[in-house]
Amino acid sequence: MTRTPFTRRRLLQSLSAGLALGPLASLSALAQKPVPPAPPSLRGLFTADEMHSAHQLRELALRDNRSYEMLERLTTEVGARLAGSEADLRAVNWAVDFMQSLKLDKVWKEPVQYPVWERISESASVISPFPHKLQITALGHSISTPEQGIQADILRVADLAALKALPAGAAQGKIVFIDHKLRKSSEYGDVASGRSRGASEAARKGAVALIIRSVGTDSHRLPHTGVMHYDDGAPQIPAAAMSNPDADLLNRMLQRGQPVRLDLRLQTRSAPDFTSYNVIGEWRGTELPDEYVLIGGHLDSWDPGTGALDDGAGCMITAGALDCLVRRGIRPRRSIRLVFYANEEQGLLGGKAYHAAHQQEISRIQAASEADSGQGPVKRLRSYVRPEALGIVRQMQEVLAPLGVAAGGNDGHPGPDMGVLRDAGAASFSLDMQADDYFDYHHTADDTFDKVEPARIRQSCAVYAVFAWMAAQSPLHFGSGPALKKS
Ligand SMILES: [Zn+2]
Repeated sequence: MTRTPFTRRRLLQSLSAGLALGPLASLSALAQKPVPPAPPSLRGLFTADEMHSAHQLRELALRDNRSYEMLERLTTEVGARLAGSEADLRAVNWAVDFMQSLKLDKVWKEPVQYPVWERISESASVISPFPHKLQITALGHSISTPEQGIQADILRVADLAALKALPAGAAQGKIVFIDHKLRKSSEYGDVASGRSRGASEAARKGAVALIIRSVGTDSHRLPHTGVMHYDDGAPQIPAAAMSNPDADLLNRMLQRGQPVRLDLRLQTRSAPDFTSYNVIGEWRGTELPDEYVLIGGHLDSWDPGTGALDDGAGCMITAGALDCLVRRGIRPRRSIRLVFYANEEQGLLGGKAYHAAHQQEISRIQAASEADSGQGPVKRLRSYVRPEALGIVRQMQEVLAPLGVAAGGNDGHPGPDMGVLRDAGAASFSLDMQADDYFDYHHTADDTFDKVEPARIRQSCAVYAVFAWMAAQSPLHFGSGPALKKS
């Protein structure tokens, strides 16, 4: 057998031409006409052509910097978006204009009602044994202290469980200090329970206020805010979080065996009945337009930062993924719906309102997945689908593997705002993100655009683009309906 250099060169040239032109050529063909249904013998799995298109889409999306640019716009042109504030409605108007600029088929908003809570001022200091000013922030929904503040000794407890275990009256007249350090992101739910439930527990033991170690993995001197709730029937006491270094400082004072006395001053404001909106856009499918894949994030943020990671990133990763299809005119079989939810932070209110307005269409939700864990990259794909659709999930995992996405099990959860849809029977996906540094910035003044890394956002956007297209294009329904309902 002889091979001439000439033939080899020709072969290489045609290969590189194919690589350069293949993706665009093939995707523009997709744009012109819908992919024909798979032949019956192949029903239940993607065809080789469809798999090829998914691989091409992944590579195109990976080169696309739109999500990053969109996030720069949101954080610059709107900034902090506290639910119930004037900025909430500014963000909604911005989001409507933004989605319209994406040239989706339809953009609309749906009302969501909730009360207003705002911080006015907050400060704390150690009175004795060693005077220090502390870096603190009020927790969302906290009542105010009296104007002259609250002066009391602290009672340290390790965590919420230790607080609950105290005998009645053990915290009489004290400021309870919950000293539960968040060591890794997977412990967030457990540690955050002290923030959300600690005030009522402390009040039942006789406490006059609650101050917690910030729920954050960092050691910078910025406190982390977050929502808290008062139990019905429990006395209401003011609640705040201090920075991690300040919690360390209090511990060092306590180790000296003397009482530690604080002065805590919070002024907050509440008002009933604010109306905001979920902002929704849709890209219509070709064959089953009434079925849809649901992606998105929450538009609201806490007030100290500009909500870049929580959850501007999630909104714009998913918007960028959809935009990647729309700009090329790629329409899958089913529709793709993008939702920017109102007020996730203070109790998943946008998610609950979406469910209330759309509960009749659970079986038409092909798949749901919200992005609300920062900027990525996505490290794992988990599904929650009927067993017959697991072959499709494996094909998705195969396409995503080169991006470093591992295959997870069939125990997926669609994220905070969409959790209620999963409970009602919606097929769901977890695009699990690397979150090692997410809780360094979460709910602090440091959640700003400079923390966002373009390469991480691009990977997350590419994963969402592939996921959304493959889920919407799937030859099989993923099984949303009574069979997937939480029992
Ligand atoms: Zn969030």
